[in-house]
Amino acid sequence: MTKLLSLARRLEVLTHDQRNLAFMEICGTHTVSLFRSGVKSLLPDSIRLVSGPGCPVCVTPQGYLDAACELALQQGITILSYGDMIRVPGSKLSLAQARAEGAKVEVVYSARTAVRYAKEHPEEEVVFLAVGFETTTPVSAITVLEAQRAELGNLSLLTGHKMVLPAMHTLLSGGDVPLDGFLCPGHVSVIIGTDAYAPIVQEYGKGCVVAGFEAEGMLRAITRLVEMALLGQAGIENCYPVAVRRQGNPYARELISRVFEPVDSTWRAMGTIPDSGLRLRDEFRQFDAQYRYDLSTDADSHPPGCLCGEVIQGKTDPIHCAHFGAACTPSTPIGPCMVSSEGSCAAWYRYSATRSSTVAQG
Ligand code: SF4
Repeated sequence: MTKLLSLARRLEVLTHDQRNLAFMEICGTHTVSLFRSGVKSLLPDSIRLVSGPGCPVCVTPQGYLDAACELALQQGITILSYGDMIRVPGSKLSLAQARAEGAKVEVVYSARTAVRYAKEHPEEEVVFLAVGFETTTPVSAITVLEAQRAELGNLSLLTGHKMVLPAMHTLLSGGDVPLDGFLCPGHVSVIIGTDAYAPIVQEYGKGCVVAGFEAEGMLRAITRLVEMALLGQAGIENCYPVAVRRQGNPYARELISRVFEPVDSTWRAMGTIPDSGLRLRDEFRQFDAQYRYDLSTDADSHPPGCLCGEVIQGKTDPIHCAHFGAACTPSTPIGPCMVSSEGSCAAWYRYSATRSSTVAQG
């Protein structure tokens, strides 16, 4: 506690009489941890933290869910999914509602469960919803290799994997959200390494500091971001050295590139970002549900009045959505940011609704 308070005091001294600063966390776990640990409440008013596109469920376009619902309801295919995804509303139904209408939708906790399920149910066609950033992609890659080794003919992946760095480039080049630096994701950085952020520092002059999920590490990282911004000395720093290396995890990255290749990808409300997604390489085509069932997943519509698109780009805060806490709550979610345990709206609902960090108001 003493260290936390001394870091908070240092931040107050650093920012006294200085301009307002805005930093973006692009990791849903950070969004939740910053609230839960109380770090947000320790920050001076001149420091704003905004959430970026770091929640995989939140950035997945509605068309992806519609494709999954169509597979489940119209083609009788078994859908395996991580838990949060099944409650996200599609344009007509969520997967949970499809299940209530008789579709077979199972929650799994690891992609590798899909292989076991497909082996145990040879009479079923099985599609695993493979979403997530660089953290979960290696497990999807292993799943595909295992399915290939087992010569499974009844399993495929609907790939919605995305990469964090292209989204950072898009946010910065758009210039809609004035940012002074990034609190870089701990889990993703374990895979991609701190060196991966060099282009963000070199091209845009924004500091990138990696943090884990403990209060002290996050506050230390924010302190370093403030120092960099005020001194005009953007750089890369690693406040999570116990897990993150400069080069990341080369084995995991090699796995990803053996099985997947970059592809343009649609992000909710952000449009198509070049080379920001991953699709299976040609040699693994038989495990690609999009190819196998001739699906399109790119449609991107939004529930009326839902500001999730603005929220995931740091353009506004959940409390500025008219539905927040009224029609939209964790038990009655309208958009993905209220469904996901890592979504900004869910975090604001659970932990705080008293402070706005809307950059536009800064
Ligand atoms: Fe969407 Fe609900 Fe968040 Fe509003 S409060 S942006 S409707 S998820």
